[in-house]
Amino acid sequence: TQAPEKHSFQAEVKQVLDIVVNSLYTDKEIFVRELVSNASDALEKLRHTQLTEKDIKDDNLELEINITTDDAAGTLTIQDFGIGMTRDELIGNIGTIAHSGSKAFLEAIKESGGANENLIGQFGVGFYSVFMVAEKVDVFTHTWHTGGEGFLWSSDGSGEYIIEPSAGQRRGTKIVIKLKEEHKEFSQEARIKGILERYSSFIEFPVNLNGEKVNTTQAVWLKSKSDVTEEEYKEFYKFQAKASDEPMDWMHFAADAPLSINALLYFPGHNPEMPGFGRIDCGVALHCRKVLIDPEPKKLFPEWMRFLKGVVDSADLPLNISRESMQDSALIAKLSQVLTKRLIKHLADMAKKDEEKYNQIWKTFGNYLKEGVAADFTHREGLAPLLRFESSMTEAGKTTGLQAYVDRMKEDQKEIYFITGPNRQTIESGPYLEGFKSRGIEVLFCIDPIDDFVLGNLSQFQEKQLVSAEQDDLELGESNEVPEGEALDDASTEGLCTWLKETLGERVKEVSAGKRLVDSPVLALNADKMMTANMRRMMAAMQS
Ligand code: ADP
Ligand code: MG
Repeated sequence: TQAPEKHSFQAEVKQVLDIVVNSLYTDKEIFVRELVSNASDALEKLRHTQLTEKDIKDDNLELEINITTDDAAGTLTIQDFGIGMTRDELIGNIGTIAHSGSKAFLEAIKESGGANENLIGQFGVGFYSVFMVAEKVDVFTHTWHTGGEGFLWSSDGSGEYIIEPSAGQRRGTKIVIKLKEEHKEFSQEARIKGILERYSSFIEFPVNLNGEKVNTTQAVWLKSKSDVTEEEYKEFYKFQAKASDEPMDWMHFAADAPLSINALLYFPGHNPEMPGFGRIDCGVALHCRKVLIDPEPKKLFPEWMRFLKGVVDSADLPLNISRESMQDSALIAKLSQVLTKRLIKHLADMAKKDEEKYNQIWKTFGNYLKEGVAADFTHREGLAPLLRFESSMTEAGKTTGLQAYVDRMKEDQKEIYFITGPNRQTIESGPYLEGFKSRGIEVLFCIDPIDDFVLGNLSQFQEKQLVSAEQDDLELGESNEVPEGEALDDASTEGLCTWLKETLGERVKEVSAGKRLVDSPVLALNADKMMTANMRRMMAAMQS
């Protein structure tokens, strides 16, 4: 037999270990959740492998997780009959941080001004949490390959670990935790039972504690709505999204035609896309009859739906569908269609029945819906009524939708007007609004820099053109207000226009007298029908 090889943890791992062990968790018990969820992941991967591979070691072993406590020895053991790890996988997965998780994690900690539990789940430093309570951790493992070997990985978490061959291992992974003196409580059956009941009730595989099964709940998304309590919905969200916040809302949906679908989609408690971290991946896992097909399916939903969490299960998917072939499957496209429409309907209903809740959703996820209007041609029309803007007829901070705008339109008004500005105050004090105000015409306020781009792409709503208030050739009709003072005579007006054109030269196309203004003497208008001044500024900024 070979002698144990000594390895050093990668520098980043050391850093993560330091944070996790010394400052991170006030709630030490979370390590149990992390290890059990790894065991469950390993079983899921094995189940998937069994669909396509024949030569599987110990193929008759149950897909289950066995946990044992030894109070006298001060140890806790967590064993799964999952996919196991080869020697290279041991080094790659739990000695290095292969995914860029650790770096992002460290940066996120810096950015949020401190570590918190939510970050851990998100960046996958889960395994290392065991060193909060462990004096020593032994990981015995054997990969699913019949030809593979068993290994022991062992470390006290201080900077080094050893790996040596270990004969007689069954398939999967067994983690033996020797607890620190001050954390001996985790070798007590009652303590672990309480933790498992809290965190592991949604695990899809049997979890046995000292020989007795502790999780008996079935998949939440397959149950009928009336059988799931609000508390269960919230707990499942935390479990599935690895979140510590509460979901803002959820949609539980079942259908038999045209496809068999069970879906449970959550709106997270906050926007999961943090500034500076780029785009997140789709957070809705795809299952077929409870078997996980893909935890982050890229083509399941249009891009703008990436903020959602949850599960989609379709019994119509072929079980052995590969992630690659899924990309262009007609079935997935159909699934996506049905679910996207359902989600849009869910939001439209909410906007009608519970305005306050919808406004909260809009505040947090409005940017994704705007992205949908701008980029998702298929669902643009469905999404348009969900857009919200402040307007010249709303109070500051309150919003209106396009439908409500249209309902308020005066009989002879044919177009929908919007105006761009950095904030409400600037728009209200500028010259563009006064011509509309004096005629009693409502104008939508585009305060977010992408707003006029979104409306420009939408281009119309209920066959009414969306038109920028800076457009030069608007026909607004007669004003109700008569300007104070005397008007210039025609000759002086013409003289003034000529002088302005000569003075401004190439910077303007034309200077003319108009009827739009009430108090202000002049305003610049836009002759370009395709682009507003704001869009030109954005384009210029992108090109420079
Ligand atoms: P994450 O689960 O987010 O990937 P972890 O730190 O919890 O991060 O685990 C790191 C990796 O170690 C896992 O991705 C997996 O490859 C491997 N691993 C951990 N526990 C097990 C296990 N019980 N069986 C097989 N592989 C495991
Ligand atoms: Mg994990």
